[in-house]
Amino acid sequence: AVNLKFIKDNLAAVRQNVRDRAVPADPDRVVALYDAYVALGQRADALRRQRNENAARMKGAAGMQKEERDACIAEGKRLKADVARLEKDLAEAEVQLQAESAKIPNMTHPDVPVGGEEQARTVSLVGEKRDFAKDGMEAQAHLDVALRHDLVDFENAARVAGNKFYYLRNEGALLELALVNWAMTLAAQNGFTVMTTPDVAREDVVAGCGFAPRGEASQVYRVAESDLCLVGTAEIPLGGYYAGQIVAKEELPVKMAAFSHCFRREVGAAGATTRGLYRVHQFSKVELFVLAHPEESQRVHEELRAFEETLYASLGLHFRVLDMPTQDLGHPASRKYDIEAWMPGRGAYGEVSSASNCTDYQARRLNIRYREARGDNRFVHTLNATACAVPRMIVAILETHVQPDGRVRVPDALRPFMGGAEFIGRA
Ligand code: AMP
Repeated sequence: AVNLKFIKDNLAAVRQNVRDRAVPADPDRVVALYDAYVALGQRADALRRQRNENAARMKGAAGMQKEERDACIAEGKRLKADVARLEKDLAEAEVQLQAESAKIPNMTHPDVPVGGEEQARTVSLVGEKRDFAKDGMEAQAHLDVALRHDLVDFENAARVAGNKFYYLRNEGALLELALVNWAMTLAAQNGFTVMTTPDVAREDVVAGCGFAPRGEASQVYRVAESDLCLVGTAEIPLGGYYAGQIVAKEELPVKMAAFSHCFRREVGAAGATTRGLYRVHQFSKVELFVLAHPEESQRVHEELRAFEETLYASLGLHFRVLDMPTQDLGHPASRKYDIEAWMPGRGAYGEVSSASNCTDYQARRLNIRYREARGDNRFVHTLNATACAVPRMIVAILETHVQPDGRVRVPDALRPFMGGAEFIGRA
């Protein structure tokens, strides 16, 4: 699934990419393991041929002298043992090669800024920070607003499921459903096939999408006594939807949008923003996922970003769009645009969405191809983008639209999905 020939033929560029992304991968070791694996395979083939030739000679054994026949039998035994040994070595070499090559990230789009978080390049800025002083009030934390109107309950959730789980209540619950319905409706109007998905997927699908299903640092919850994982994003069931398939070129781009629950262990997030809904273990999300022709994927990426911008602008949010730097891309993305909304109560921009072009990284692992011409099947490019990650939308909406009387104004675009309500809460 990994393009080993590409790594071997472009070793200098792959080394540079690994350095730019600062990931612990060793392309030279991958090439050495690959060469060793190919050489072992060739030796195994040669030995199998010899074994077959010897077996063919044995067919004429009746006409042989005893000495010759004994030699032939001994040779057959030796060859059989040698083939078995080599096949075992070959299987071991393959496991090592797979483990090392899985550490190699996707190649990076040449325009992506090189470096860490601080190198993120702002590509657009939409709306502006609300001036709370003008309304004679101060910005408020979303959790205070939510608790005041009984929209959220962390205490009982902690008892039932643990920390960083929550119940949404009253208009909080209605707001979640409105946001989901709003995003799904707009996605459908914009040519996406809307779906709901399984919230679990097999480990191989999770790995095929570029997420590590196992290991201490894995963000993935596994379901005990099964090969299932709880999905961290609908990207996983949507990526899996076309796994192993060949789509007609005319069908591209295949545009899907799905609602799912998302489950994240958030390992290593201790100490990060913990108050309220910002970082939780389970949340609802509408995710966009596209299979594109390789020559079209950059254009589709820009379209996804533009679509996201219209979504968040219609909620009256102020946000910035960032071209994320090499060290923030993860493994599958070749380029990633993050959208960060201004959250006045936090006094900071917070990531609400990200749009990635994964080029052929996931398609190779999931084996999703399109028919370019008769007998010529190639890997598609896959892209994913957040249409609506509910908890962070709630944070941004409550903090942006809270009124001096304590109520929260419902953005016009959401009202039809909230039974026409103009405000959340009572003054
Ligand atoms: P990702 O798939 O990691 O790019 O995340 C997509 C979006 O989901 C992010 O932009 C956030 O809005 C949201 N998100 C990610 N992790 C969490 C979390 N632990 N709690 C709440 N929202 C999250």
